[in-house]
Amino acid sequence: MPDTKFQTDPGLLDDLSVRVEPDAPIGSKTWYRCGGSAAMLAHPSNTAQLSAVVERCNDKGVPVYVMGGGANLLVADEGVDGVVVRLDDDNFKQVRIEGRKLTAGPGVDLFSLVTATCKAGLDGLVHIAGIPGTVGGAVRMNAGGAFGDIGEAVSRVQLMSAEGQVYYRDRDDLSFEYRKTNIVAPFILDVEFEMDETDPDELNKRMKEIFFFKKNTQPMGDKSAGCSFKNPPPDVAEPAGKLIDKAGLKGKAVGKASVSDVHANFIVAEPGCTANDVITLMQEVADEVEHQFGVRLEREVVVWP
Ligand SMILES: Cc1cc2nc3c(=O)[nH]c(=O)nc-3n(C[C@H](O)[C@H](O)[C@H](O)COP(=O)(O)OP(=O)(O)OC[C@H]3O[C@@H](n4cnc5c(N)ncnc54)[C@H](O)[C@@H]3O)c2cc1C
Repeated sequence: MPDTKFQTDPGLLDDLSVRVEPDAPIGSKTWYRCGGSAAMLAHPSNTAQLSAVVERCNDKGVPVYVMGGGANLLVADEGVDGVVVRLDDDNFKQVRIEGRKLTAGPGVDLFSLVTATCKAGLDGLVHIAGIPGTVGGAVRMNAGGAFGDIGEAVSRVQLMSAEGQVYYRDRDDLSFEYRKTNIVAPFILDVEFEMDETDPDELNKRMKEIFFFKKNTQPMGDKSAGCSFKNPPPDVAEPAGKLIDKAGLKGKAVGKASVSDVHANFIVAEPGCTANDVITLMQEVADEVEHQFGVRLEREVVVWP
């Protein structure tokens, strides 16, 4: 075996006809634009290929990860020793509308999703306007904000198990809470949303308002993964951003990572930033907030591995 920094067998997926990039830089594909590479980045072109990849990794005990838009992700500088899957083939980016139901593939980006619903006069997803990422990542994180979350509109999901089996779960079996869901399957595939019919012009107006509200209150142009920490339950403490601000941490920096002056729950990265800068700053911020207010903030950003 060639001398490499990863243990994952580079020939693991050779016989599966799946497009694979070895030692692929994935940190640079996240919104943070920092962090290391994956031993293997696989781009299955359909569900059958994805299933074959997942089954192979399961059989060989190789860790498998799925990356959406990388908007809530930080990849460690040393990278990820395993197979990272990206559902970026057109087959995973389909949007179908039938009456009040819209089905979107996991790779559909949220901007196109929200725009498509507004154009079709379907009310149910406009409140996530301005949140970056893909359908798969957003459902996994139950992305949302002051106006609601994505889970509210989900009526059915197609999932894939760690063994590569496809199955469905309906609304009655699903629960969505603040930045979490009871979906345990490693892969979220097609997602069906059920919405109300309304006037497209009215929806477009609301979309713009929500988008500008977000743009005016968050550092959307900077490199980040959105909010670094989850808000503590309201009966326990104030929102994470308020606590960080009150602790006097706005502007605090480690290397090229700093606490945003616009919104204290955003840790933003300047060119040359490492994942380690961000992780160290997150720890220091959480330590200081705990020291001052006795509340341990829980990370919202997913850190690999
Ligand atoms: C500027 C900025 C603003 C943001 N504002 C908000 C906000 O207001 N509200 C909010 O909730 N979030 C916000 N975020 C975070 C982010 O946009 C959301 O969490 C988004 O849903 C992540 O989607 P993604 O496709 O980029 O997921 P990724 O970051 O790629 O992945 C996130 C997690 O989802 C998993 N995942 C991805 N795809 C799938 C799939 N198909 N099946 C199963 N698991 C999957 C990944 O393995 C990982 O665990 C913001 C981020 C940025 C950069």
